[in-house]
Amino acid sequence: MKLWNEGDPIADKAAPDGPIETRWERRQFGAKLVNPANRRKLTVIVVGTGLAGGSAAATLAEAGYKVRSYCYQDSPRRAHSIAAQGGINAAKNYRNDGDSVYRLFYDTVKGGDFRARESNVYRLAQVSVNIIDQCVAQGVPFAREYGGLLDNRSFGGTQVSRTFYARGQTGQQLLLGAYQAMERQIAAGNIEMHARHEMLELVVVDGRARGVVVRDLVTGEITTDFADAVVLASGGYGNVFFLSTNAKGCNVTATWRAHRKGALFANPCYTQIHPTCIPESGTHQSKLTLMSESLRNDGRVWVPKRAGDDRKPADIAEDERDYYLERIYPSFGNLVPRDIASRAAKNVCDEGRGVGPGGLGVYLDFADAITRLGRPAVEAKYGNLFEMYQRITGEDPYVTPMRIYPAVHYTMGGLWVDYDLQSTIPGLFVIGEANFSDHGANRLGASALMQGLADGYFVLPNTINDYLAAGPYPAVAADDPAVVSARASVEDRISALLAVDGDRTVDSFHRELGHIMWEYCGMDRTEQGLTKAISLIRALREEFWTRVKVPGTGEQLNQNLERAGRVADFFELAELMCVDALHRTESCGGHFRAESQTPDGEALRHDDAFSYVAAWEFTGTGEPPVLHKEALGFEYVHPTQRSYK
Ligand SMILES: Cc1cc2nc3c(=O)[nH]c(=O)nc-3n(C[C@H](O)[C@H](O)[C@H](O)COP(=O)(O)OP(=O)(O)OC[C@H]3O[C@@H](n4cnc5c(N)ncnc54)[C@H](O)[C@@H]3O)c2cc1C
Repeated sequence: MKLWNEGDPIADKAAPDGPIETRWERRQFGAKLVNPANRRKLTVIVVGTGLAGGSAAATLAEAGYKVRSYCYQDSPRRAHSIAAQGGINAAKNYRNDGDSVYRLFYDTVKGGDFRARESNVYRLAQVSVNIIDQCVAQGVPFAREYGGLLDNRSFGGTQVSRTFYARGQTGQQLLLGAYQAMERQIAAGNIEMHARHEMLELVVVDGRARGVVVRDLVTGEITTDFADAVVLASGGYGNVFFLSTNAKGCNVTATWRAHRKGALFANPCYTQIHPTCIPESGTHQSKLTLMSESLRNDGRVWVPKRAGDDRKPADIAEDERDYYLERIYPSFGNLVPRDIASRAAKNVCDEGRGVGPGGLGVYLDFADAITRLGRPAVEAKYGNLFEMYQRITGEDPYVTPMRIYPAVHYTMGGLWVDYDLQSTIPGLFVIGEANFSDHGANRLGASALMQGLADGYFVLPNTINDYLAAGPYPAVAADDPAVVSARASVEDRISALLAVDGDRTVDSFHRELGHIMWEYCGMDRTEQGLTKAISLIRALREEFWTRVKVPGTGEQLNQNLERAGRVADFFELAELMCVDALHRTESCGGHFRAESQTPDGEALRHDDAFSYVAAWEFTGTGEPPVLHKEALGFEYVHPTQRSYK
């Protein structure tokens, strides 16, 4: 059985060359501008109102474009970005601890295990400093030091403090800033907001992205909307694993529909598994809860030295504890990157030294921090996270160490975009977690908010002009065959889902798919496991289309129907993730192939064979996808075996 074919290589033609420090400036200068008087004649559809979509919509509207925004929540400010806890990176060097744009660039390229583009990452580091200024100007209440300066803390994979935060609610505060900026433009009539609408298809006319087909989630009405360009800011797809730290609604539908229409999907197998989540407690759970990485600034991770030691943590003496991250990685200690910390936790649990029910947990202990700083200081920094932990587990983390275990958290893969953030479909731009761009094979903590806001406030609003300058594009007729067929495919799929009328719930399929993915495409992956997963996914997908039960109709609020459509797309994505993971017979970042490890169990890359972005072309459900390779070059940060020891 052939699982994929190889096609022509792909190149990022928008990327400038020359000195890296001036690439972004030169691209901005080289991009065409649109005269302010002409901007109001141009319309942009933005799908998604999280940090990426919200900031993009506000900025484009502020610039004078007409924007139409979509989200499936009842308000743009409920986008999943609101859940982000720990912070946002920026190379401000307020701490005078040796930080710089170059160091943030270096840390991110290295942290991504040399599988990201240098040009993109450098730009991200440059723009990071503007983000903080923008957000402070909006009134985002970042934590401050006694003297009034913005405070910083550290996140994994770095030895400086560059993470700006607003207690454990950074995403919420940043989103309120972007949302207020959007609201201003909604009031000004430049943004038309469509909450509770789900994009179910992309409309491509004459090879360009020209619109979307959406379903009103309250009435079920299907409508089309056309524009000069479409921006997808629809977030990540971690929920393919069923259990993850993502909000329940997070899904792949918007990007997957675009993929089916010709947009290449890059590095789908790069999944981030976050080391500090509350362990799974039973089959009743529909999601998992993150305990922010910021906690590793002060919390110490340990397990008992002896396998099977089930005494209470307080009864285990200091010399019977293994602070394994501090032992194995003395330079970075508890602040090693997430991929490293997650694998280390899995290893100690595999050795039988895990704690809590089923032995699937490690301790995150604040006793030292409370002694050193005092409880009020710990409360001030992390109070809401401690409270959340206590409410969920019934244990008081001020007294008993937290129990944590790795869980799916973020997806580095996404639609392929060039330096301009344009996909392989002209006029379709993709920003935030929905694209694959800047994090390589592993994202450093506090870098997703940075990327989403960099894309939305600063990068896209500059690069999209270059495309829009050739507009307005000819009006799209509602009876254009491309529109008629896009709309019909949405209606047919809804009818097909309702028509099955089987005997298994959507959630039961999703849960089973998630188990397969976690087991075989999770923290470690093997050729045998991935091959098995592909057959299991195919069989389950077939069963889904013959046994799924979607009660109700399409002409009403029907959350089962919404979920069924999303799960149907997850099935196709899951297979591609496994194919991608199977073809990449190296380990890098969050992608750990058990067959490719160093003698001490670290990820072993094969740069000679795999220093590329894997961009996949859709050829039909169950058909072998075509692989297009984008070669990665490293002029500044030379690939080495990553070491945090
Ligand atoms: C618990 C948690 C904590 C985190 N903490 C941090 C942190 O401290 N620092 C950090 O840097 N990162 C953090 N992250 C990651 C970060 O929050 C996300 O990567 C980021 O917020 C994604 O933003 P986004 O704008 O790309 O997408 P989202 O915020 O997910 O927004 C997606 C938007 O798209 C819309 N949408 C999706 N599909 C459709 C569709 N088909 N039709 C219409 N609308 C659609 C949704 O309605 C929503 O408005 C955290 C993640 C989690 C899960």
